[in-house]
Amino acid sequence: MRTSDLSEFYKKPLEERLQALKEFAELGDEEIEKLRKFGALEFETANRMIENVVSTFQLPLGIATNFIVNGKEYLIPFAIEEPSVVAAASNAAKLCRASGGFKAESDEPIMIGQILLVNAKEPEKAAEEIMRNKQELVGKASACDAMLVKFGGGARDLETRVVDSIRGKLIIVHLLVDVRDAMGANAVNTMCEALAPELEGIAGAGAKARMRIISNLAIYRKARAKAIWKKEELEKSVKGNMKGEEVVDAMLDAYAFADADPFRCTTHNKGIMNGIDAVAIACGQDFRALEAGAHSFAAISGTYKPLTRYNKNENGDLVGEIELPMAVGLVGGAVKTHPIAQIAVKILGVKSASELACVLASAGLAQNFAAMRALTTEGIQRGHMKLHAKNIAVLAGAKGNEIDIVAQKIAEEHCVKADRAKEILEEIRKRSGE
Ligand code: NAD
Repeated sequence: MRTSDLSEFYKKPLEERLQALKEFAELGDEEIEKLRKFGALEFETANRMIENVVSTFQLPLGIATNFIVNGKEYLIPFAIEEPSVVAAASNAAKLCRASGGFKAESDEPIMIGQILLVNAKEPEKAAEEIMRNKQELVGKASACDAMLVKFGGGARDLETRVVDSIRGKLIIVHLLVDVRDAMGANAVNTMCEALAPELEGIAGAGAKARMRIISNLAIYRKARAKAIWKKEELEKSVKGNMKGEEVVDAMLDAYAFADADPFRCTTHNKGIMNGIDAVAIACGQDFRALEAGAHSFAAISGTYKPLTRYNKNENGDLVGEIELPMAVGLVGGAVKTHPIAQIAVKILGVKSASELACVLASAGLAQNFAAMRALTTEGIQRGHMKLHAKNIAVLAGAKGNEIDIVAQKIAEEHCVKADRAKEILEEIRKRSGE
């Protein structure tokens, strides 16, 4: 009988896992062969990274060109399945080269670890007592990670809050940790776990540490980037007869829309994350952590807001800026184990987590600029559709140069649909006598 209760699946060798899958999902030999093709990330490595591995999942890796960040030239690897993102980022970077590209900076790499204490008899007094022991507690936390301290990091500070909740008063302790070139989750979680019994002791009889975990709202570790797009460059970039001034105004209207309306703002910020996630995935970063931090930061005022800001300078050029939490690392996580991530980092040429944060912020700003420019001028469907049409052509069975012929035809007909692509493909093949 078909069951998902595959006990000790993790202990089975790859062939047995594949066999179990084959039976469960009635996979064919060809499908099993495709799963067996691990690519650069081999089974042994993948199987150490996560549990129950049966294959690897590949994404296209594209290179965004034209980037200058803080005066340095970058080729930026993007791992993403969505058409147009790489082209859009490259184009945005090209259009601000005339004004020097992106200026970016990042804060010190301070992450927040949270320890939740419940059941304290006098929560406010307990919180005060914890703060009185701050120096000692911070020292104890640092002692857990001699390696981090050796590289100049370690625990730095402690904060406490007492908040009302549906289950009574909670004491929330924040441990601030300088994680240097790490993303920091493991490092911080380890310190929080080590500190929890100490905190329970200080908080008094009955106090219980319930949770010890990093916060992804990394407000002390933000990255910022800024770029100027000259109105003359913008005018040259648009087809048709829009003047540079009009493009700038149209983009300021688009920004006002995102600033005023959460429905638009969500998509505005999604566009930013198209760029940031793509680079993060290519470089082996925890993109879920970045996503969570970004959207939470966007709502930190109580209203969901754009992560970018735009205005017009004294020359009438468009100035774009971005600011968001950026917890990225060059040690730990997948960055050192995934072979393609290592190559991506080498292509980027970044030497520190802080430099990587600057590149990611710039990629996010570039992506946002490109989407807003396209949306307020020619619309994004034209560019999107070209690539989408190719995908549909492949889906319809087109091979080799048939792909371009079919894609062009369905795009021209404004009928980017698989059944139409199939009809065209049949016509082509009939004509060529296949
Ligand atoms: P890690 O523990 O693998 O590496 C960090 C450690 O590397 C440090 O503690 C330090 O001992 C050592 N190190 C060596 N050289 C260093 C240097 N120059 N700078 C800093 N540290 C140096 O990884 P991590 O960064 O602590 O944790 C990242 C991983 O945790 C990611 O894979 C992430 O997915 C995962 N994670 C995330 C969450 C979350 O975001 N909520 C929760 C749990 C785990």
